[in-house]
Amino acid sequence: MSLKKFTIIAGPCAAESEEQVLQTATAVKKAGADIFRANLYKPRTEPESFQGCGNIGFTWLVKARQKVKIPVATEVRTPAQVDLALKHKIDLIWIGARNSQNYDFLIYLGKATAKTKTPVMLKRGLAMRLKEWLGSSRYISQSGNPHIWLCERGVATFDPLATRNMLDLQTAWVAQKESGLPVIIDPSHAAGRIDLIAAMSKATKAAGLAGLIIEVHPQPQKALSDPQQQLTPKQFTQLMAELREVKWKK
Ligand code: PEP
Ligand code: MN
Repeated sequence: MSLKKFTIIAGPCAAESEEQVLQTATAVKKAGADIFRANLYKPRTEPESFQGCGNIGFTWLVKARQKVKIPVATEVRTPAQVDLALKHKIDLIWIGARNSQNYDFLIYLGKATAKTKTPVMLKRGLAMRLKEWLGSSRYISQSGNPHIWLCERGVATFDPLATRNMLDLQTAWVAQKESGLPVIIDPSHAAGRIDLIAAMSKATKAAGLAGLIIEVHPQPQKALSDPQQQLTPKQFTQLMAELREVKWKK
């Protein structure tokens, strides 16, 4: 399965309020994004950090889809969250980097989405090899849902002072070639800083990968998570204009 166009997923790291969700969805749609993202359950390194808005966020995503007319995507971490996502007809469900080798969960998700055919985006783990990444994807497909997208979000780097993670376009490219699945690149979590996002996004499109997932927040400096890597709507609009100049050859 390949995507018909270079696909842009954009939105805040985390859903923080109904207003923030609607405002950002409106802005990214206007800039040309295809899918709106917002995380409701934040996987944080420390339990003291903001953990996400929780279940209430589903009603905000449903409102964004209805009012802004944009498909919506979010992360799930437990079977109960999968069930809620399907109940609210979330258009794209993703599995975060920290959960991508939780095999029982992958099997549950594959079975649960077999009927709805909801696409599932599997993020690459922080130190996951190609074989492990593609193996995880087959746990989902062999459980009933072949509609899988892969997402490279940077692997652990030996120099975290320079960049948060290391964007591995090589393995992303090989993964797309070997699996035939679309590979989406997440430059926001790979770079961890906004000044790298445009260059990495353009490289992604030029390399023929399937698309991007980019964090956008109306006021990044006030964001409850990842403030240093989220673009403003204005910066995202500029990036979309620059991306239009890059040829996409699958
Ligand atoms: C995210 O995209 O919101 C996220 C938490 O990313 P990752 O699982 O790649 O760290
Ligand atoms: Mn984030």
